Amino acid sequence: MQIDEILIRYGELSTKGKNIKDFIKTLASNVSQAVADLDRVELTWSRDRMHVKVNNSDQGPEIMDRLQKVFGIQNLSPAIKVGKDLDQVKDQVASLAHDKFQPGMTFKIDTHRADHDYPYNSMELNRILGSAVIQAQPGFKAQMEEPDLRIRVEFRQDAVYLSTDTLPGAKGLPVGTAGKGSLMLSGGIDSPVAGYLSMKRGMTVEAVHFHSPPYTSPQALAKAKDLAGKIAKFGGPVTFIEVPFAHIQEAIKEHIPEGYTMTITRRMMLRLTDRIRQDRGSQAIITGESLGQVASQTLESMQAINAVTTTPVLRPLVAMDKNEIIDLSRVIDTYDLATLPYEDCCTIFAPTKPKTKPKVDNAIRYEQALDIEDLMDQALASLKIETIYPGQLVEDQEKEEFDSIL
Ligand code: ATP
Ligand code: MG
Repeated sequence: MQIDEILIRYGELSTKGKNIKDFIKTLASNVSQAVADLDRVELTWSRDRMHVKVNNSDQGPEIMDRLQKVFGIQNLSPAIKVGKDLDQVKDQVASLAHDKFQPGMTFKIDTHRADHDYPYNSMELNRILGSAVIQAQPGFKAQMEEPDLRIRVEFRQDAVYLSTDTLPGAKGLPVGTAGKGSLMLSGGIDSPVAGYLSMKRGMTVEAVHFHSPPYTSPQALAKAKDLAGKIAKFGGPVTFIEVPFAHIQEAIKEHIPEGYTMTITRRMMLRLTDRIRQDRGSQAIITGESLGQVASQTLESMQAINAVTTTPVLRPLVAMDKNEIIDLSRVIDTYDLATLPYEDCCTIFAPTKPKTKPKVDNAIRYEQALDIEDLMDQALASLKIETIYPGQLVEDQEKEEFDSIL
């Protein structure tokens, strides 16, 4: 399909008052970034929409596909470009209508005349083009209210743009307009979905992943990175911070009564994430917790775990059913990866009977057996930080590294 231009409508963004310029600028930069590796596109925008001029029309469908993942876009319409000669426009409109026609269908021509010097006004153009459609396809009936096919014809200075389709955008707000959050990203189903939903509200997300070699495998780490690559498709490159956690899990296993190992493990993770968050200038912590899903996700557990910080801990999935979360994970294409059988650090050390109603006081008392500052310092001294690009897979990267050695 030939696509010369894509019209973007903003949606929720358009409710922003004075700040709207900043929102639109951020959206424009996200749109550019989403197609940066393709042939150059040109962007122009106004308060209520954005135009993406496609220089290589063969790349149009790919560009459409990528833009459908960019938050802040309500919907998009691909358009083809024709010369301004009226006969040429009539022919193109008639042939578009002919291609789309099915018995019983109705249509409407929607002309917009940005070029006010054009010798016909929009009413006249609607009539002329409508007749051209009926002539080419006699069964096609014009209908003003709720037509089956709306043919939008925009007369501009440089050319005329025709579009018939409107595809849904990803909605939400442009990533980068709502601050930065530190996403606790495991290799499971939930946390990538929580990351996606946070991006949808405009947050830039950094991933913090706890990894416990030799108890956990390189594949488990690769899986978490690949998940970061999946969600990066919605918000641009994701900083991935790998935190060594085995020494802490060993200390917990040795010194903490079994009923509290889960609670204290989570408290350590949250403390570390909070430190990392602070160093990296992010304003919130995001988790994939959902109320009542497992022992660590009862309100009592959340209270005992959350007590280590006053930083907002955002839980976008808190009220969602597992099935709803799974549905979303399929939409964002993280489900298949997340269900690969590589255990992460929590499963390996999971106690058989974690307390579902732990008490903060008990947690604090048991933690006295640990040198918390020292354990944290050791972890923080060995962080590994890298950038994961949209769609990047660890295998590809390793192959590239291998290729570069050869
Ligand atoms: P998920 O599917 O996201 O792993 P879950 O239902 O398996 O969630 P838990 O394993 O109890 O639940 O984890 C709860 C939350 O704690 C996760 O959603 C994630 O935000 C965080 N978390 C768990 N394990 C890790 C890890 N290894 N690294 C970073 N964060 C983690
Ligand atoms: Mg998990």
